[in-house]
Amino acid sequence: MSAAALSPEVLAKYEPVIGLEVHVQLLTASKAFCGCANHFGSAPNSNVCPVCLALPGALPVLNAKAVEFATLAALAINCQVRERSIFARKNYFYPDLPKGYQISQFDKPLAEHGWIDVPTADGTTKRIGITRLHMEEDAGKSIHDGFVDSANHTSLDLNRCGTPLAEIVSEPDIRTPDEAFEYLVRLKEILLYCGVSDCNMEEGSLRCDANVSVRPKGQEKFGTKAEVKNVNSFRFVRAALEYEIERQIEVIESGGRVTQESRLWNAAEGRTYSMRSKEQAHDYRYFPEPDLPPLLISPEFLAETRKKLPELPETRRARMIAEYELTSRDAFALTATREFADRFEAAAKTAKNPHRVANLLLSELGGRLKALGLEQEQSPVSMAGIVLAADLLDEGKISSKQLKQLFDLCFEKNEDFAAVYEREKPEQITDSSAIEALIDQVIEANPKQVEQYRAGKKTVAGFFVGQVMKASKGQANPALLNELVTKKLEG
Ligand code: ADP
Ligand code: ZN
Ligand code: MG
Repeated sequence: MSAAALSPEVLAKYEPVIGLEVHVQLLTASKAFCGCANHFGSAPNSNVCPVCLALPGALPVLNAKAVEFATLAALAINCQVRERSIFARKNYFYPDLPKGYQISQFDKPLAEHGWIDVPTADGTTKRIGITRLHMEEDAGKSIHDGFVDSANHTSLDLNRCGTPLAEIVSEPDIRTPDEAFEYLVRLKEILLYCGVSDCNMEEGSLRCDANVSVRPKGQEKFGTKAEVKNVNSFRFVRAALEYEIERQIEVIESGGRVTQESRLWNAAEGRTYSMRSKEQAHDYRYFPEPDLPPLLISPEFLAETRKKLPELPETRRARMIAEYELTSRDAFALTATREFADRFEAAAKTAKNPHRVANLLLSELGGRLKALGLEQEQSPVSMAGIVLAADLLDEGKISSKQLKQLFDLCFEKNEDFAAVYEREKPEQITDSSAIEALIDQVIEANPKQVEQYRAGKKTVAGFFVGQVMKASKGQANPALLNELVTKKLEG
């Protein structure tokens, strides 16, 4: 079936409905129910013990740090945390699951009724509901290649068994693949700010199942959904959803019915394949975990955990926009990671004009890094260097042209700004009469602009400042130049 043959008119008759299930591994030192290291990349089967191997008689003990991280994440996405939640066994057979069940939570999850706000294309935000956040444990891994006998055998690595997870289930509030992408970006950002997961998709610390259905526009009832599994990047989630939406519309348009099933995303082919009919909750024979007591979250613990919440990205952007007079776009750039935002703010506070620090950081420095394909960490100019540059500009000790030249030198010589500035100490013309002479020349050469200025168009002063600065090869003292240009034009 080709899922690309539909006309825009046909596509426009339907509305997609999307809900996402995100699993994140929690960044605890040890596993959820035993003392084994929770570490990616160890030698296979080196981080295992009787508990996570499910040897008879071994008993789980809940990791307090995992509870703290899950609770922190729940609060960050505005969930209500239950005082009493229940662990449950989710029974199924899989070679990488030696217990034959996963410890999860079922009808009494840790947290419910949350939401996150997601920016939309038209500049507004849309609130996406979070149904629940529950705790569970990860399974091991089947390894199909990389061993000498991989052609004939599948190997098992049980290091991942018992890794603590939070599963975050969204309401079916998402309406487009772009919205789904944005939801994931914002969710990941929040989790990273909270420090509860490294959200590394390549290593599987963040995984996403995408549920999607379509319904004729105007119809209230949801259509039958398919669940797309094995999507290991946000871009692929978007692509898989785009594919799946068209596939379902094509099924309906040709008189068929969408089947409820799990489908597998094949990135190489850019399409989904039917994997299995979707299991129902009763297939898992959920029942309360007899080896673990109910999880009790006291109001005191909740209050303590709430205190550990960092300022979250949305709030931080809003504050920074107001505090440093930033555009929304710049605020997004400066808050890309919590660490970067922290470094910016610590530096900006020491500068005379924090707004200028932001500008230099994003345009002068950011532009050069981008052109060279470098990361922020590879920048020759430090935050302190940016602050110095901003202050020098502010005090009129260098012109913006000189600043650009100094930055160029920093990159050429791979040196920080302070060192380059100390050595170069760009010359400045601070002699009023020399600057006045240049101004006279420019005024003489541009009678039309002089007329405009005198007719009331005061912004033309900027033109003269620019021209004189150019004539001085960027060396005129900016403050003095500004003052003298106004004086001459007024005079
Ligand atoms: P299941 O029992 O099949 O796991 P759930 O009701 O638990 O289904 O929902 C799983 C995910 O699917 C949630 O993110 C939810 O928002 C989403 N979802 C539920 N119904 C639909 C639907 N008809 N279309 C798209 N997504 C849906
Ligand atoms: Zn163990
Ligand atoms: Mg479900």
